[in-house]
Amino acid sequence: MINKLCIIGVGLIGGSLAMALRNAGYCNEVIGAGRNADRLQVAKDLGVVDSFSTNLADAVADADMVFIAVPVGAMEAVFKQIDAHLKPGAVITDGGSAKSSVMKAAKNALKRSYSQFVAGHPIAGTEQSGVEAAFAELYQDRRIIITPTFDTNKRATDKVTAMWQAAGATVESMSAAHHDDILAGTSHLPHLLAYGLVNCLFESDNSEGFFKYAAGGFRDFTRIASSDPVMWRDICLSNKSALLDSLERYQSELDQLKSALQTDDADQLLSYFQSAKKSRDKFQF
Ligand code: NAP
Repeated sequence: MINKLCIIGVGLIGGSLAMALRNAGYCNEVIGAGRNADRLQVAKDLGVVDSFSTNLADAVADADMVFIAVPVGAMEAVFKQIDAHLKPGAVITDGGSAKSSVMKAAKNALKRSYSQFVAGHPIAGTEQSGVEAAFAELYQDRRIIITPTFDTNKRATDKVTAMWQAAGATVESMSAAHHDDILAGTSHLPHLLAYGLVNCLFESDNSEGFFKYAAGGFRDFTRIASSDPVMWRDICLSNKSALLDSLERYQSELDQLKSALQTDDADQLLSYFQSAKKSRDKFQF
């Protein structure tokens, strides 16, 4: 149970956590914090937060749990603003999509409270942004990855785990590097490819025709290209090395496909597709 929860960045991820915990009766009070009073007023009007402040130092002053859900490139500045103002024993966690860079930022900026920081990433989301897109069920039956280290306070880790469980999720722990490798392939690369495909088609002379005749395959493949560009710029740069590795592997797959097409190699194409279908069919989402 959390007495006072502070959410810094009350958008899809932060707002959904506040709603889930309120619905579960897991926190008494939620304060929203950020840089834009008008947007925070919307969060209050929607009943996502009880109060708000654009002064992060004031917002965290008597919070027991602080959840940071701003784009990953903005995390370090937030850590710096709150460090000296956290209540003793307060737990800090985040929802950023890349973990090594956020943990490095936390180590640089959280001088007093680094051991109380438990890095996390909900494997849940949509292509929508902002508090209007938040919903209480977002984390129901979804996985949350946390990446504590030997420096992380065990009680803080337990509190963050319990919070996510109260929101309906299951929690798994792994190293930040392992998280970043996996997510580069399963999330960051697909977003890069979706943005790339949209630009490849719609920046061509035929773009009107593409729009007119785009159907299910195109819609499924490119849905995530509607995601927030600032957020994805930050994620790609924050996980650059693992993402470049994934991109290189993907490029070599494309080379194989290109060569099979150029040489009319029907057998090669068929066995390539069969092997991918077999792998994909094993997944249950
Ligand atoms: P969002 O809906 O756009 O919300 C982001 C929030 O951060 C907004 O309240 C925004 O406030 C605030 N913000 C943006 N830039 C800021 C800055 N420079 N300083 C302070 N506050 C700032 O985004 P989201 O989808 O919730 O994503 C939040 C975090 O969760 C990101 O780190 C992302 O990597 C991670 N994440 C996202 C997903 C997903 O599917 N969307 C899934 C898992 C994790 P303003 O109104 O002032 O812009």
